[in-house]
Amino acid sequence: MIKDEKTVIIGAGLAGLSCGYELTKLGLPVTIYEANDSIGGLSRTLWYNTPEGKFGSDFGGHRFLTREKQIEQFFFNVIGNENVEKRQRSSHILLKGKYFDYPIKPFSALLKMPIWLTIKAGFTYWYAFFRYWFARRNSEDNFEDWVKHRFGSTLYNLFFRDYTQKTWGINPRKISSVWAAERIKATNFFVMIKNSLFRPDPKSKIAMTLYKQFYYPKNGIQMLSDNMAKFIRNNNQEIFTNARLLKIEINNEVINRLEFETGDSIDNFNTLVSSIPLPTLIDAMGEIVPKNIQKAAKNLQYRDLILIGFMLDKPEAIKDSWIYFPEDRHYFVRISEPSKYGSGMCPKGKTSIVTEITCSMGDSKWEMSNDELKKQVRDQLIDLDFFSEKEIIGSFVERITHAYPLFDVDFEKNLSMVLSFLSQIQNLELIGRTGTFQYLNMDIVLLHGLSCARKIAGLTEKSATMISHDSQWVG
Ligand SMILES: Cc1cc2nc3c(=O)[nH]c(=O)nc-3n(C[C@H](O)[C@H](O)[C@H](O)COP(=O)(O)OP(=O)(O)OC[C@H]3O[C@@H](n4cnc5c(N)ncnc54)[C@H](O)[C@@H]3O)c2cc1C
Repeated sequence: MIKDEKTVIIGAGLAGLSCGYELTKLGLPVTIYEANDSIGGLSRTLWYNTPEGKFGSDFGGHRFLTREKQIEQFFFNVIGNENVEKRQRSSHILLKGKYFDYPIKPFSALLKMPIWLTIKAGFTYWYAFFRYWFARRNSEDNFEDWVKHRFGSTLYNLFFRDYTQKTWGINPRKISSVWAAERIKATNFFVMIKNSLFRPDPKSKIAMTLYKQFYYPKNGIQMLSDNMAKFIRNNNQEIFTNARLLKIEINNEVINRLEFETGDSIDNFNTLVSSIPLPTLIDAMGEIVPKNIQKAAKNLQYRDLILIGFMLDKPEAIKDSWIYFPEDRHYFVRISEPSKYGSGMCPKGKTSIVTEITCSMGDSKWEMSNDELKKQVRDQLIDLDFFSEKEIIGSFVERITHAYPLFDVDFEKNLSMVLSFLSQIQNLELIGRTGTFQYLNMDIVLLHGLSCARKIAGLTEKSATMISHDSQWVG
């Protein structure tokens, strides 16, 4: 029998909305509170009006991929078959003035390198290989050691070092090896050769990020959130925006009262589902949280993001869906062309380029004025020959916090302390990428939301919320 209990969800990203959607479908009362003025969280699509028409941009193009049949079905049901487009993916990485296939195929990449570099890479690769597999295994708690032990120092310096430093803003020695193991699926020579030469087996663990095709809602990834919200509201459940959670009151290990920035408070609920950043959640609990847990939560850091987009009076700007830029001389780590994702993203005959700059709130990039950011990025894109100044119709800048959980060398220790404290609270569930501090793509986030709702309804004992499901890095 379904338990008839009231749930409050904090955060209207995909995790919160999918949980609310499923609870609504099961006929259970639910209310969602979102801090922002719009729903969708990291999976939002922003729209910009120009005299030439409307241009859309996700927070970095969001392609939909999954190995979970139920989640694929859910995606199609929510978006509607007629609104889902299947797109061919093409992506490259610009390194030392040359474009290489992405994901990197080290062997085909080395063929494009000077012969002396190829020989050096081969030598350091085999040296690392024998040392790692047959001699003493050194400790490898950080990204640099993990990659060097498996690929050698030359391949590491060429393909991994700069991109990692630029993306995370810290020395790769301070990044956990857990990130490397998640990020780099080819862990040895034979896997590397296989990946370079053959089409991936859809059932294999390395396959997902290599998929050649992906699904996309024709008018932007926001359709997923909007359609879930519509279903929830049409069934008389509420979603409040501009409703930032500020305080959580806990008595005898049960959350019984919430206070919002608006001045409102609520106490008429059984379960609290949180999809908000863990440090924010801990902070809202106040002094009831032991000092060491407060400190551990503060040390769980997220990386932020600036999007800078240019709307263009031309039908195509790049040949790829997206391109990576690992070198420091470029402001951005990735650019994408939304019209390569959904047919409704740009007016007919026009296109746009969206660049992603990873940064940390308060650093020099984050603090730079919008005009300066646009100028720097525009000049680099023009230099790269993607468009000319006279083709620019308009431009925008957006700042996004908590885009990526940062897996530094201490994150596992800090995370497990925080989770162990939170697990004592009887009516709290954690879901989503931001809310569980896991590097998750949309499909697993949706799985979190749906399975959490079923757990609340008493249909399963466990939810899938702490299963990262060998998630593949997509964005
Ligand atoms: C640049 C980029 C590209 C990506 N590309 C892809 C891709 O191609 N494919 C893919 O599958 N995935 C991709 N992802 C991942 C995808 O965006 C996430 O998995 C998903 O959006 C996470 O949803 P969530 O609900 O867990 O978290 P969020 O979207 O972060 O939702 C949390 C919500 O909580 C709200 N909130 C925070 N604090 C409070 C508070 N105090 N009170 C109330 N509300 C609060 C936030 O405003 C937010 O709306 C990408 C992510 C990024 C950053």
